[in-house]
Amino acid sequence: MLIETHAHLDDKQFDADRDEVISRAFSGGVEKIINIGAGLGSSQRSVTLAEKYENIFCSIGLHPHYFMEYGEKSFAKFDEFKALSSSKKVIAIGEIGLDYFIPDGSIITEEQKELQKKGFMEQLEFAKELKLPVILHCRGSRPEAPSAYRESDDAYEDVLKIVSEFPELNFVWHSFGGRLEFVEKVLVKENMLISFAGNITYNKPGAEIFDVIRKIPIDKIMLETDCPYLAPVPMRGKRNEPLFVKYVAQKIAEVKNVDFEELARITTSTAERFFRL
Ligand SMILES: [Zn+2]
Repeated sequence: MLIETHAHLDDKQFDADRDEVISRAFSGGVEKIINIGAGLGSSQRSVTLAEKYENIFCSIGLHPHYFMEYGEKSFAKFDEFKALSSSKKVIAIGEIGLDYFIPDGSIITEEQKELQKKGFMEQLEFAKELKLPVILHCRGSRPEAPSAYRESDDAYEDVLKIVSEFPELNFVWHSFGGRLEFVEKVLVKENMLISFAGNITYNKPGAEIFDVIRKIPIDKIMLETDCPYLAPVPMRGKRNEPLFVKYVAQKIAEVKNVDFEELARITTSTAERFFRL
């Protein structure tokens, strides 16, 4: 059985068939799902969804783009955000972090970086208060438009520097896209795990991501889809859903040359321990 550690089932793309998507996952080998907040609205919807289903849990978090969109006004919403944590289904804070990639092609300013860092650190303080694990979102700036594995390490280095000031917290780097030299810096930290999403299946043999995966001990890996985005091969191009976490598991089992069942067992127990499920 697998645990889908990063879904966005509250997304509009699931409005027409959310219940079917969820039952497909639970009857297809997914044991538990964690739905992720990525703003105030999605955190609220995540709590509502998790309250409805026994085996759905959720995180609440304000994504770095939330701070880009609302600027200083974001901080006025913190009380409302924090109040959501009273639900017992809230088991983590995230996805939070730094995102230096601006979709419209512009280059992030120092001021925007500072705003993201402020929002990130306030939420880390909150996680510390609640003693909850943290789901990290990190994306480096990309001056050109190359593959996901060519993104700059800038945001990764900044996130690592900030989270190193919170040794009492546990972290997972979600949909990891860092380079091999960077993953070595993460692996020396005992309080950090790494999770992979469907986009790992887009790479050709020999891609750096597979060296990254081989480098990480299996018991430091968790699985996710990040649905509705990043559907893994063979579903690439379709809407992603929690059931497809099995393709991510298959790919990692293949790269690490272990049985699917073995990989499922270890990643599931890691997720249960990390999220205290
Ligand atoms: Zn996400």
